[in-house]
Order: sequence, then C-alpha cells, then structure tokens
Amino acid sequence: MKKTLKIAIDGPSGAGKSSLAKGVAAKLGLTYVDTGALYRTVGLHTLRNGVDAADTEGIISLLPSLTVEMANEDGAQHVYLCGEDVTDKIRTPEVSHYASSVSAVPEVRKFLFSLQREIADKRDVIMDGRDIGTVILPDADLKVFLTASAEARARRRYIELTEKGIETSVELLIAQQKERDERDSSRDVAPLVPADDAVLLDNSQISLQETIDEVIRFAREKKLIAE
Ligand code: C5P
Repeated sequence: MKKTLKIAIDGPSGAGKSSLAKGVAAKLGLTYVDTGALYRTVGLHTLRNGVDAADTEGIISLLPSLTVEMANEDGAQHVYLCGEDVTDKIRTPEVSHYASSVSAVPEVRKFLFSLQREIADKRDVIMDGRDIGTVILPDADLKVFLTASAEARARRRYIELTEKGIETSVELLIAQQKERDERDSSRDVAPLVPADDAVLLDNSQISLQETIDEVIRFAREKKLIAE
C-alpha cells in the first residue's frame, strides 16, 4: 500500500486546532479529520439512550449496538450514527458534556481507534484531537501540539459567544478553561500531553493565518511538500 501523508494536530480545547487543520488541509490538499466529532457521536448515542454521562458500565453496554461512520461530502466531514447523518446534532453543549465523559472510557477509545487509523491509512490526512500524535498516529510525518494561554483561549471564546448573543464574562471563561486543562492533562486515560517528537506552537500572540503559515513552514522543513 502506498504510504500516505499524515499530520497530527493535538492540543487543549479552544486553541484553534480545527481552524488551523482546515486551513492547512485546504492549502496542501489533505483530508481534514475532526476526531472530536467521533467522541461527540458516541456521546449523542449515550444521551439518546438515557444513559447517564457518569455511568461507565452503561456507556460500555451501548457499544455493541453502535456504528459510527465518517464520510467526506463536498469537502466537508459528515458523521453518521447508525446510518443517520448527525453532523449538526453533535454540536450542542449537552453533547459536548457527554463527549467529554465518554472520551474518558478506555473501551470507547478502543472502539474508535481502528476507524481513525483506517482513514489515515487510506488518504493523506491532517487529523486533530488530543491523542493523535501519541496514540492514533505515532508514525505521523509531522506532529504539532497547538497551545494558547488560558486567557487568549477564553478571550476568543468570549467573542464567539457574545456574537451568538450568549452572556458570559472573560473571568468566568478563564476559570473554566483552567479547570478543564487541569482535568484533561491529569486524567488517567489518554491524558493531553505532547508527543516527544511534536513541535510546540503557541498561538496566543499570532493570527490564524500566521499559525497556518508556521505549520506549512514545518512541513516544508521536513520535506513533506515541495519548496
Ligand atoms: O474537540 P472536541 O471538543 O469536539 O472534542 C469533544 C470531546 O472529545 C472533548 O471532550 C475531548 O476531550 C474528547 N476528545 C478526545 N480525544 C480526541 C478528540 C476529542 O478525548 N482525539
């Protein structure tokens, strides 16, 4: 089988991984794979079946009845839950909460492992998540660990929410961000840590375009793309 190009983007929530990955995918002609969508789909299935987010055994018992598929339609990623297109339904705050709970269950991570791996073996991909460089694609050609200060991430989130008419405060968002960072990096299962060979990129002070340009530069330096 022809070896495919694999780029891994990991980092905390709110660092701008998906915008970065989409930008790089468009520039280099790669397929963008949002792995968070898979955990969200398992979360939605759990929620719909009336299983509590904290009920680990209940979550595990749902896995045999579950099929998750991904398809690229007109350049956009779609996810299917037992044949139903749930792409838009997985973006609610309730599903975010469930996604976070199910992602801490090792059986769920194992369940989603081969799906992620198969996609990367078939196509040139840029995948974003939390454990792409460490677990899913340890053989990635380029690994980027994208960070931004809790303050910068909270400020961006504040603008996003305010634009949607949702009232909040930067202080509250910073506190929530710090709490989530602590939980994500200290959890036993797939803790959020950079791979040893990942390039660390902090975009607190630079724009999205500059962040994309940096990753393209890393890819050029590694001779993954032509000069
Ligand atoms: O990135 P997104 O917010 O859509 O991810 C949803 C949830 O799935 C998050 O809580 C995150 O911790 C989890 N996740 C994960 N591993 C990944 C991608 C997402 O644990 N590779």
